[in-house]
Amino acid sequence: MVVGNGIAGLTACDSLRSAGFDGELTVVGAERHHPYSRPALSKALLHSVQGSSEDGLRAHELPEPSHDATELLGVSAAGLDVDARLVRLDGGGELPYDGLVIASGSRAKRLAAGPQQDGAGGPHQDGSPRELTLRTLEDAILLKERVASRPSVIVIGGGPLGMEVASGCLAAGCEVTLVSDVGPLSRQLGEHLSDLFTSAAIGRGLRVVGGGKARLAHHGSGTRVVLVDGTELEADLVVTAVGDEPNVGWLAGSSLLTGGSLRVDSRGRLRPDIVAAGDVASFPTRRGVQRVPLWTSAIDQAKVAAVGLLQGDTAPEFDFQPYFWTEGFGLSLKSVGFTPVAGAPDYCEPGGSADSVLLRWDNPDGSGTAAAINYRIPVPKLRKLADGGPAALRPAAPARV
Ligand SMILES: Cc1cc2nc3c(=O)[nH]c(=O)nc-3n(C[C@H](O)[C@H](O)[C@H](O)COP(=O)(O)OP(=O)(O)OC[C@H]3O[C@@H](n4cnc5c(N)ncnc54)[C@H](O)[C@@H]3O)c2cc1C
Repeated sequence: MVVGNGIAGLTACDSLRSAGFDGELTVVGAERHHPYSRPALSKALLHSVQGSSEDGLRAHELPEPSHDATELLGVSAAGLDVDARLVRLDGGGELPYDGLVIASGSRAKRLAAGPQQDGAGGPHQDGSPRELTLRTLEDAILLKERVASRPSVIVIGGGPLGMEVASGCLAAGCEVTLVSDVGPLSRQLGEHLSDLFTSAAIGRGLRVVGGGKARLAHHGSGTRVVLVDGTELEADLVVTAVGDEPNVGWLAGSSLLTGGSLRVDSRGRLRPDIVAAGDVASFPTRRGVQRVPLWTSAIDQAKVAAVGLLQGDTAPEFDFQPYFWTEGFGLSLKSVGFTPVAGAPDYCEPGGSADSVLLRWDNPDGSGTAAAINYRIPVPKLRKLADGGPAALRPAAPARV
């Protein structure tokens, strides 16, 4: 059985089948949809103009699953009994399993859930939410609808998601303020790339405000954002992108959690009969045990975990190298290797246009990180650059006899 119908759940099902599992497979998924591309929600979908770009509006769609599992969609797992091998379902009923893949992902953290929010998490008088987040297809559709009337927008959170939302709102014609307690993207990518993206964003009209951590406060029909340094901001719409938290609530009491996290071994296992993959799981990397809530990380983990479930100690272990991409403000970035990176890159190859560039950093731990900005390069080649440096990109000399 697989709990969670996102990309990790889908990949686990496909990988179980391709590793030879031909038994009964059941997927329990809280969302009513087949798996879709979450990354597209803040990119093509948000940027597409309503009623025109069909491509953008359908960019989140993935091919229909072909793993032939019984899909229970719109159904949540509410509990797990590891001794009886039973998953309890929300609303009653339980399902037995022989092997279990936990792929319940994560959800958006909400600012209003924190302390001292003056009860600002409640809806406006007209019932609309004061704080929008972007995690699900429904969130994306709501955000797109709200942005269509070109409200003023405050985006809180300077990570990739906050920057993509800000870029999408700006492209829709909104006046956008980004609130970030550190340089946008610096926590994820380091100062060099942060400066590059921030300049491009400001050049396109984004207002960037520091001033420390933000909190929300009630203010008539709008929402007020109050920063630690006393700055107060107001806008018609507030979107927060302040991180994600793993969906582990249903595992309370299962004995699988260590300090609230789901820590798997190098084959994705929690026990011989239970594996976990994707945003929900912390797994061993060369930078320690951590969650790496990225699309390809979820895919890579799910492939390993599915085989780990079937083959145990003889299954291959993780050999994980992060890959990540983001778009916004006219820039498109692909990055391979661990981030954030410190300092300026030690290799820089300009591309065909002013903002097209290929970069590489040597990390203190001996690994490399490569980034391509508006630079057309296949990901396997970018991996080569990260691993082997610029020499790895040169064609091999012809053999001499
Ligand atoms: C807007 C957005 C943009 C992103 N852009 C990028 C990007 O550009 N590049 C990148 O690398 N990553 C990006 N990410 C991150 C990436 O999408 C995630 O890392 C990836 O989707 C994780 O997949 P997952 O299957 O582990 O979890 P999820 O996608 O969260 O799927 C888990 C599923 O399990 C369901 N579920 C939860 N609890 C239960 C339960 N108790 N019972 C049953 N079902 C349950 C959830 O409803 C969900 O459908 C983005 C994320 C978002 C939100």
